Amino acid sequence: MVAANRPDPDADPFRPPEVPIQVHCMHCDRDYDSYLIEWREEVGADGQLHGFWCCPTPGCGGMGFGFDILPTDPDYQDERGGWVCFDDEDDEDDEDEDEDDED
Ligand SMILES: [Zn+2]
Repeated sequence: MVAANRPDPDADPFRPPEVPIQVHCMHCDRDYDSYLIEWREEVGADGQLHGFWCCPTPGCGGMGFGFDILPTDPDYQDERGGWVCFDDEDDEDDEDEDEDDED
């Protein structure tokens, strides 16, 4: 039995990417792999159970991929939050023929 109001880690907008990448925590200034980001649950001031994706460093208050915990690669893109995933390379080759036909 699961409590109805239990937070869902997979529905959290700050969850880490499915494919692990190297990330940097702005709070503890460490680099590590995104799969190390920990899901933690705690009861907030409102008495509700809240879940957070947290920096794995002991004592660090960094939370949330894309918030306190950022990709080390500034060009990293993902399908969420305005980033675009680079999974589908197949579709893109077709359009290369159109370049510079003027003159
Ligand atoms: Zn940290």
